[in-house]
Amino acid sequence: MSARADDVNVKSIVIRPGDALIVVDVQRDYLPGGALAVPHGDAVVEPLNRVIDQFVRTDLPIFYIRDWHPAQHVSPVNHGSRLPVHCIAGTAGAEFAPRLWIAQSDPIIPLTAAHDHGAVSAFEGTPLAEQLNRTETKRIFIGGLAMEHCVMKTALDAMSRGYEVYVILDAVRAASARSGDDRRALRVMRRQGARTTRAANILAG
Ligand code: ZN
Repeated sequence: MSARADDVNVKSIVIRPGDALIVVDVQRDYLPGGALAVPHGDAVVEPLNRVIDQFVRTDLPIFYIRDWHPAQHVSPVNHGSRLPVHCIAGTAGAEFAPRLWIAQSDPIIPLTAAHDHGAVSAFEGTPLAEQLNRTETKRIFIGGLAMEHCVMKTALDAMSRGYEVYVILDAVRAASARSGDDRRALRVMRRQGARTTRAANILAG
C-alpha cells in the first residue's frame, strides 16, 4: 500500500468505554507456510499486540475471531475449489499465531461458517453481535487476515449494523490473489464509512 493511501486519518485516538477490538483469523494457516497463507501475514502480530496492550490496560473488550472448521464439514460442497482445507478445529493450523497475545478472559469466537469464496463476516453464525451488544460497543477497531476477505466482510457488516469502524492499516494484510486487492478493499471499506488508523495511534486513555 502506498504511503499516500495510508496517510488518511492517522491522528491519535484515545480509546474509551464503548470501544472494542476485533482480531480476525490471526492463525497459523493464514501465516506464511500455512495452508491459506497471506503474504507477510505474520507482520500483523506486532501491531496487533500493541493495540491489544492498550485495550487490556483500559479493560476494554477484545474479540478474537478464529476460523474453525469442524473436520467433517470440510468438503468441496462447503469450500468449493478455490480454498484449500485450512483451520480445521483442533489442528496446529487453526492455532493462533505463536506470538499473538491472547488476553486472558477475552472471548475467542469460533467462525465455522463455510466460505466458498474466501469471504466470511465474523458476524455470520457467531455470538459476536450479541456480545458487542452486551459490552455496549459503539466503535470497533479491526485488524487481522485477510484484509479483502474476512476483515473487509466483517468491517462492512459492522458498519451496516451501525458501528463506527476503524481499520488498523498496519495490522491487516491482504491475500492479494490479484494485484491491487488491498487498495480495492480499502476503497470499498472507506466508501462505506470506515476510518483508518495505525496501531501506534490507538492509545489508552
Ligand atoms: Zn475458513
